[in-house]
Amino acid sequence: MTGLPDPALVVLVGASGAGKSTWAGAHYRAQEIVSSDDLRAIVGSGRHDLDASTDAFALLDQIVAARARRGLTCVVDTLGLDPQRRRGYLAIARAHAVPAVAVLVDAPPALARKRNAARDRPVPADTLRAQLRRAAQVRDELAAEGWDQVLVVTAAEPAGTAAAPAAAAAAPPTGLEFVLQISRVPWADDPTGWLRGMAQAAAEAGFAGVALMDHLIQIPQVERAWEPIPEPWVTLGMLAGLDTGLRLGTLVSPVTFRAPGIVAKTVATLDAITGGRAFLGLGAGWWDREHAAFGLPFPPAAERLDALESAIETIRALWAPGTKAFAGSRVELPETTCYPRPVSDVPIIVGGSGERRTLRIAAQLADGCNLPSDEDKLAGKIAVLRAHCAAVGRDAGEVAVTVLDLPIVGRDRDEVWQRVETLRGRTAAATFAERRHAGTYEQQRERYRRLAGLGVRTVFVSPPHLRTPGDVLALGAMVRP
Ligand code: GDP
Ligand code: MG
Repeated sequence: MTGLPDPALVVLVGASGAGKSTWAGAHYRAQEIVSSDDLRAIVGSGRHDLDASTDAFALLDQIVAARARRGLTCVVDTLGLDPQRRRGYLAIARAHAVPAVAVLVDAPPALARKRNAARDRPVPADTLRAQLRRAAQVRDELAAEGWDQVLVVTAAEPAGTAAAPAAAAAAPPTGLEFVLQISRVPWADDPTGWLRGMAQAAAEAGFAGVALMDHLIQIPQVERAWEPIPEPWVTLGMLAGLDTGLRLGTLVSPVTFRAPGIVAKTVATLDAITGGRAFLGLGAGWWDREHAAFGLPFPPAAERLDALESAIETIRALWAPGTKAFAGSRVELPETTCYPRPVSDVPIIVGGSGERRTLRIAAQLADGCNLPSDEDKLAGKIAVLRAHCAAVGRDAGEVAVTVLDLPIVGRDRDEVWQRVETLRGRTAAATFAERRHAGTYEQQRERYRRLAGLGVRTVFVSPPHLRTPGDVLALGAMVRP
């Protein structure tokens, strides 16, 4: 929105009537703004009760410190013209490692005077004159005080455009493909109706496909174990019967669940009945509990990774044209009779970020490699993947980088933070917000542009709040080109 860090301690600076409160209200939530005027009205007789200033500022300092300690954004709405107070706020920000920002709201004196005169209790003329004189000097002071950023807002800037949906629509496209990953399935007593609605909304919102998780028990990272988690290939078969044009697949199927030949048969069938819209996510599996509960072996990681390699080899052999015998480096099959064949080159996306083996398997055998979307680690993982490609003599461009992204999103700051508060459980709000990339649709688009810059081609998006088709449709503001 403003290009400012977030969270941040934001200190407004400017004369009365410059437009500080208006600017703050256009860019931040009411709960994030602490205003000396508001606090005077709470501890005193009204917003301009100067006798209540000492009490009001004591409270203000306490609120600023409390929010900074929690890593929450706080906007200090006071005149901001007193350098000693500003140094105090800077010290609080430093103490809690929160970026400190000064926002100088600069209105031409004539405009500030006009606005002041229009108020029900104008500031006396000589007071305003003194403030305007101070405001003219303050820019140089701010530059010397050590703020992480100083933003100068001029009165000409129209207020209130910050989080408007129109701004998101105007943002340049990310150049990425988006696939909706449905991880929660609150289908109540109408499974087909719910699935149909979600898929149609995904297509309408601009998603290229729908991915389902492949688990036997709902995983604890998502929700409780007794929530429904339908078998994905059966469910994708139902979605295949809709006229959505969506690509359909899993993210990801553990090789430990089904014999690889059966996976080849299943996915070939899905590809045939969708006219070439299937994809296959494959991984080594990780959750021992679901294997135990369903009577499936769960061998050590090294064996599961071996199984992943042989599975890809088997599946590709059964998808290749003809029926001839197959002798690969890991698997031998007396014949490869498997009809229907897939009608497209079904992409196999290997999921997992183990650098030594998983990424090497992806480099060697897969069409895509799915990684977590955390920006701080992603560049490193992509570099490892590319190094594996070089080592096995594969063109890195043949292995598409995809990411799984689980963002907290909303149309504006209020909706984003309501969702953070609903979903964070016992995790501190600031920690949860950072971990889950909390932000507006517009902020997510900015982040996706950065991911595209790192080489990502497809984002599997799974915001945790999705319960209805309406929730999916709203994501159009984030994914539509
Ligand atoms: P503060 O004293 O610096 O907090 O100033 P306010 O934000 O309260 O603004 C003073 C007056 O100017 C209010 O009546 C606002 O509605 C008006 N105002 C502030 N910013 C703008 C702006 O960008 N455009 C217009 N047209 N009016 C503004
Ligand atoms: Mg104000």
